Amino acid sequence: MIILNFELTDQQKLIRRNVRKFANDILAPVAPIFDKEATFSQKIFEKLAEINAWGIQLPEEYGGAGLDSISYTLIIEEIARVCASTALTLTVHNSVGAYPIYKWGTEEQKARFLTDLARGRKIAGFSWTEPNAGSDAAAIETTAVQEGDHFILNGSKIFVTNGGIASVMLIGAKFLTDDGQKGIGAFIVERDMKGYEIGPPEDKLGMRGNITTSLYFHDVEIPIENVLGNLSDGFKIAMDALNVGRIGIAAQALGIAQAAFEHSIEYSKGRIQFGRPISSFQGISFKLAEMSAKIDAARLLVYNAAFLKDQKRDISKASATCKYFASKIAREISQEAIQIHGGYGYMKDLPLERYYRDSKVTELYEGTNEIMKLIISRKILGK
Ligand SMILES: Cc1cc2nc3c(=O)[nH]c(=O)nc-3n(C[C@H](O)[C@H](O)[C@H](O)COP(=O)(O)OP(=O)(O)OC[C@H]3O[C@@H](n4cnc5c(N)ncnc54)[C@H](O)[C@@H]3O)c2cc1C
Repeated sequence: MIILNFELTDQQKLIRRNVRKFANDILAPVAPIFDKEATFSQKIFEKLAEINAWGIQLPEEYGGAGLDSISYTLIIEEIARVCASTALTLTVHNSVGAYPIYKWGTEEQKARFLTDLARGRKIAGFSWTEPNAGSDAAAIETTAVQEGDHFILNGSKIFVTNGGIASVMLIGAKFLTDDGQKGIGAFIVERDMKGYEIGPPEDKLGMRGNITTSLYFHDVEIPIENVLGNLSDGFKIAMDALNVGRIGIAAQALGIAQAAFEHSIEYSKGRIQFGRPISSFQGISFKLAEMSAKIDAARLLVYNAAFLKDQKRDISKASATCKYFASKIAREISQEAIQIHGGYGYMKDLPLERYYRDSKVTELYEGTNEIMKLIISRKILGK
């Protein structure tokens, strides 16, 4: 029997407290620098390894923390509350990067990759989008042509999160086998493979502390042992990974919204205009009330999707719903937070404009919000 229980367990509360402290102590000083200089720090990656943030849900036998999905969302939210870019690096690595190898990989693949990924010795990514294939994920043009015991990969990918730093990349390609079979496959491609070229970092609006690049494949030789799952299951694997990934993106959006909200409360209580704190004006306090209601609703949707995932239920609608809603309210709340801060909110001395810039992309990646509505409406209409 499933009991409706909104209370976090003692362990989940402890995790949230510890990660909040880590984020405040370790990430807060560097987050504005990462944003300004569009960079990241290997030292921070090592500190993230110390708190087991690279293998949040991987089993302990692979060096992971073996945590449940609610704990996962708490960790991503708390990191994003302080540094959304670092939360992006982590959530892509943990969800669409490492998770599919754990879920669909052979024992040999798990042994080869998961411990390094869980310990943060290697970073993972997921690379599907191409110049002519974004929302239409089945339109990819990268090819993998079999030649005996390996595939030859040719093509290019764009907008690859962790592109410049990941050593293990899950890549979608149209395959052609020796005996003429065709379809879409998921391949584990390693950065040190010959012919794997990384483009320069993209100059982005937000999430500037996370590296996004293009990738180019020139006759990359991929051993057959690097095919993930059944060769023809590539699209299914990608959709499963994205269903899981979207919960992390929603948690990330929630963290940004929470940060913007907390700053707004604090500031509105201290800022005096017309002889009173601006929080005493209904025009401001109602904004805070609206933020609060939106965050509460988003958080419940995120927890619901995480809960359903742990129950091994179909999460496609729940993950699309929480991603759609949390990303939308993160953009709205970070925009309203600037309004509450007036002109100061527009200046780079405060983090409000960073939250606003960081929030936007949560409505785009791992499926745009139009695509989230497509997924939700198809479910509602039974298509
Ligand atoms: C910073 C960043 C990081 C990213 N990281 C990754 C990554 O790590 N791996 C990866 O594979 N991809 C990544 N992406 C790509 C991202 O997932 C795509 O940008 C996204 O899926 C949209 O594809 P597109 O940009 O080609 O837009 P398009 O698909 O061309 O869409 C353009 C517009 O048309 C709308 N649209 C398209 N089809 C429909 C439809 N059927 N109904 C209604 N509206 C529609 C879209 O919603 C959008 O508003 C990243 C993108 C960014 C910006």
